[in-house]
Amino acid sequence: MTIDNYKFAGKKAIVRVDFNVPLDENGNITDDTRIRGALPTLKKILEEGGSLIIMSHMGKPKGKVNPKFSLAQIKDAVATALGCDVKFAEDCANAADAAAALQPGEVLLLENLRFYPEEEGKPVGIDKEDPAYETAKKEMKESQKAFAKTLASYADCYVNDAFGTAHRKHASTAVIADNFGEDDKMLGYLMEKEVKAVDNILSDIKRPFTAIMGGSKVSTKIGIIENLMDKVDNLILCGGMTYTFAKAQGGKIGLSICEDDKLDLALDIMKKAQEKGVNLVLGTDCIAGDKFSNDANTQVVSAMDIPEGWEGMDAGPVTREAFAEVIRTAKTILWNGPAGVFEFDNFAGGSKAIAEAIVEATENGAFSLVGGGDSVACVNKFGLADKVSYVSTGGGALLEAIEGKVLPGVAAIKG
Ligand code: AMP
Repeated sequence: MTIDNYKFAGKKAIVRVDFNVPLDENGNITDDTRIRGALPTLKKILEEGGSLIIMSHMGKPKGKVNPKFSLAQIKDAVATALGCDVKFAEDCANAADAAAALQPGEVLLLENLRFYPEEEGKPVGIDKEDPAYETAKKEMKESQKAFAKTLASYADCYVNDAFGTAHRKHASTAVIADNFGEDDKMLGYLMEKEVKAVDNILSDIKRPFTAIMGGSKVSTKIGIIENLMDKVDNLILCGGMTYTFAKAQGGKIGLSICEDDKLDLALDIMKKAQEKGVNLVLGTDCIAGDKFSNDANTQVVSAMDIPEGWEGMDAGPVTREAFAEVIRTAKTILWNGPAGVFEFDNFAGGSKAIAEAIVEATENGAFSLVGGGDSVACVNKFGLADKVSYVSTGGGALLEAIEGKVLPGVAAIKG
């Protein structure tokens, strides 16, 4: 079923959203992007005369009630965004009466799903090494099914619009779907858009396809780097991982961030790229700083010859131009991870050069997908978010989808 085909009039829809919004110490929302992201789906259901049961997680309360992570804190913001009253169920697993009382056009927000360990379905308080762990795990899976069934019992149909958690097989993101027939479960608009964007990258590749992977470490990105190697024409590796590659090749990297146990891995990636005919582009020069601070003294040096006491903190001018040249001619672009410590304005230039080249390529007809928290923060910082083709709300989910893994949240609905 699709959200556009379903007849919501008179129906109760339970919708999994990602309202895991950042809050300040007073419980005020500091960025409401995620609430805004779910609005098209939520409004569509209300406007058609359906009623809404909204469910989400917030933070990591680890299966225990914790007011710090209560969704009650965002109830009013959700009401303002929807332009209607929002009722609140303080116990998400005991909300049957509140759900039953809902009239068309009414909204019920459930308390944080992760106040129950059943949401994530992992046994709590027992070590993985403990011989009793396996039994506890099986028991928890059964409790998870029961929890999901309770949530499902509140509604006539299920909508999943939480891409950020689609890579998790949780009660509300996947297990719940088993309680609904094919005609009564569907992806929300945000999920549909995300899935389509990934599909664009994976199946409808216009070449050259250029992926830019940055960030701090090679170890957290290795799965996707290896997977991309079979798909891309150009692979730009930048950010902190540059120095693991430089050291692996015998370079001097001073105090630069480096994963010493990944030197072989770096060489292996270089070898594989060569075997597969992928143009691997690494930084050659960098902006080095004499301390990890925005007001560090800086100098442009070779990424292979960084003086003692200095660390590589951003891509240098030659590197920026080399990256930009490859990006400008691309027809499909994926960017995940910054080229430097972009949080410090003085070391954001490399990431900005990448963002600007992506914008230029997009203007020339490329499809560009930017995903993962930090790259999204980059395009936002430079005011370029609306000049790329798609900015994904998913971090881990996006990378797993591009790695070719089936996302449980999508599979539970699409089969
Ligand atoms: P990740 O979470 O792995 O995508 O990494 C993002 C982080 O990498 C950002 O907070 C950047 O500040 C950081 N980063 C990028 N380049 C460097 C660098 N050369 N040295 C230290 N950290 C870096």
